[in-house]
Amino acid sequence: MKNKTNLSLASSGARIHPRILIDRFGRTFNYLRIALNEMCNLRCIYCMPEEGIQFKSKNEMMTMEEIMRIITVVSELGVNKIRFTGGEPLLRKDLVELVEKTSLISGINSVNMTTNGVLLKQYAADLQGSGLSGINISIDTLNPEKYIQITRRDEVGRALEGLEAAKTAGILSIKINVVALRGFNDSEIVEFVELTKNYPLTVRFIELMPFDAHQIWKTGKFFSAENIQKELKNHFPDIKTTDGTATEHAIFQVPDYAGKVAVIPSYSRNLCGNCNRIRLTADGKIRNCLYAHNEFNLRDLMRSGGTKEEMKELILSAMWKKLFDGWTAQKSGSNSRESMTQIGG
Ligand code: SAM
Ligand code: SF4
Repeated sequence: MKNKTNLSLASSGARIHPRILIDRFGRTFNYLRIALNEMCNLRCIYCMPEEGIQFKSKNEMMTMEEIMRIITVVSELGVNKIRFTGGEPLLRKDLVELVEKTSLISGINSVNMTTNGVLLKQYAADLQGSGLSGINISIDTLNPEKYIQITRRDEVGRALEGLEAAKTAGILSIKINVVALRGFNDSEIVEFVELTKNYPLTVRFIELMPFDAHQIWKTGKFFSAENIQKELKNHFPDIKTTDGTATEHAIFQVPDYAGKVAVIPSYSRNLCGNCNRIRLTADGKIRNCLYAHNEFNLRDLMRSGGTKEEMKELILSAMWKKLFDGWTAQKSGSNSRESMTQIGG
């Protein structure tokens, strides 16, 4: 934990939260991740079953006006970074407008999205023009057959075209998300690292997490952050550590390569002390941790006439109640969500 003095505040039983986005352990929150929908044009085996999940009705999803209202409120509480995710955010027709409106909000200085990239080619230039600061494109394998196995769709060609379109459009920060899977894409580590040779993008190897209804993660595919790092060092003995963001376990760079490689311990959860994230589910609920079970219904508060002050109060109190780490959060109840597509990753 980065702030030990605040542990005493937590254990002292203080119940009233301050008027800033802080929790009982001294963590502050400046980053809101918003799931824009639950729908997706892929069916990644670790995320959604082929038949989909029990998708909520359109009426239960947040409207653009509701999303903009929430972003305005959190910006007044000190949030300066937004990420749109999903489901697949590019399936939302108002995405470019959402990015544009968000980038114009005072205090917001970084607007990002996470996408599978399949529909990106046609939107990349507009998104860049609307103020998108960064894009994470999820591509777990570069091999067309294996891509079909993992996503159940024959779309690697369009996903890679999306990546090229993001480069051509000049989107400032481009990252490739790769869920590391033992016996599946561990043999492609070198190919992924080579993508960083001539272009300043970051390849991020992410640990598999137990967030799918079918519990694919129990099938022996888990590949730990420690082992990913070992493999990286085996293949690239000269690889050096470098700087990254708060939740990137380790950042590496091969000497003379333009880009970087990150390893994300999303299952090992040894970076919870650095967490700066607030999550908003596609149906408008605040989740104070990816692994949390309790949620705070901002959408219903808004729909029942809640004021800006009441919204702030709900968000502040939700974050104040964040538990010590993801392990404590996981043990605190049973999961209310079927799939990562509802939470946004
Ligand atoms: N559809 C978009 C995409 O795939 O990038 C955005 C939503 S997706 C839920 C966000 C991120 O979560 C993706 O990088 C995806 O690979 C990751 N993800 C989904 N389920 C996961 C799981 N069980 N373990 C680890 N990462 C997961
Ligand atoms: Fe869709 Fe993203 Fe889930 Fe894959 S990880 S099924 S692309 S929401």
